[in-house]
Amino acid sequence: MESPTPVMDLWFPRRCPVCDRPVKPYGALICRDCAEVPRAVGPSACCKCGKPVEPEEEYCSDCRQHRHMYYRGAASFRYRSISGSLYRFKYEGRREYADYYAREMARTLDGFTAELAGGHAPQILVPVPCSAQRMRKRGYNQAALLARKLAENSGIPVAEDALTREKDTQAMRNMSSSERQKNLKKAFHAYGNSVRLKSIMLIDDIYTTGATIDACAGALLEAGAKEVSFLTLAIGENSL
Ligand SMILES: [Zn+2]
Ligand SMILES: [Zn+2]
Repeated sequence: MESPTPVMDLWFPRRCPVCDRPVKPYGALICRDCAEVPRAVGPSACCKCGKPVEPEEEYCSDCRQHRHMYYRGAASFRYRSISGSLYRFKYEGRREYADYYAREMARTLDGFTAELAGGHAPQILVPVPCSAQRMRKRGYNQAALLARKLAENSGIPVAEDALTREKDTQAMRNMSSSERQKNLKKAFHAYGNSVRLKSIMLIDDIYTTGATIDACAGALLEAGAKEVSFLTLAIGENSL
């Protein structure tokens, strides 16, 4: 039996993650005309962090210079092509975008898992947590929303409580990068039981400098995780 259009949908039609108007055609996750706007990272990506690079490059300039705590990472889209959408998702309550985002991330995860292969394939998804303070203010953690939907799409279980964030790191904007790193390192705590000896896939909305992902990976490894990779919806390009 076909279910009728839910009443809530008539009052609050799903909005398109690109144009923010009710999605056309009805029932889709993104408008047909808007689907070309988010730009995929593409085939030339850094072998470490997954940022777009020139075809002849193996690593991005950041990964050539710095060591990272994680094993490898991947992202679905170039940040600039969906920055407005991500802003509304994070700060203006557009949780419904998570359905489209997670569908795209699931496709990226499929390819990435095939590349990682064997012992490196993820066993659990762990969202980058936000502080209790920010959770109260905003009402949801965008990374946890993505991880939950991605778990539905991929069948890989999510361990939402594996990591906690004790400090609100919002005030770090004016710090130098080494101060930032020190501060971040103390902010995350991992709980051994769910992560011990596991290959973990960290989930977040965006990867820029990698400081947050590194701090989370460090905490998970300290708690006994076997290996930590990451998947984000968006990734900054090198100039970011
Ligand atoms: Zn649209
Ligand atoms: Zn890189």
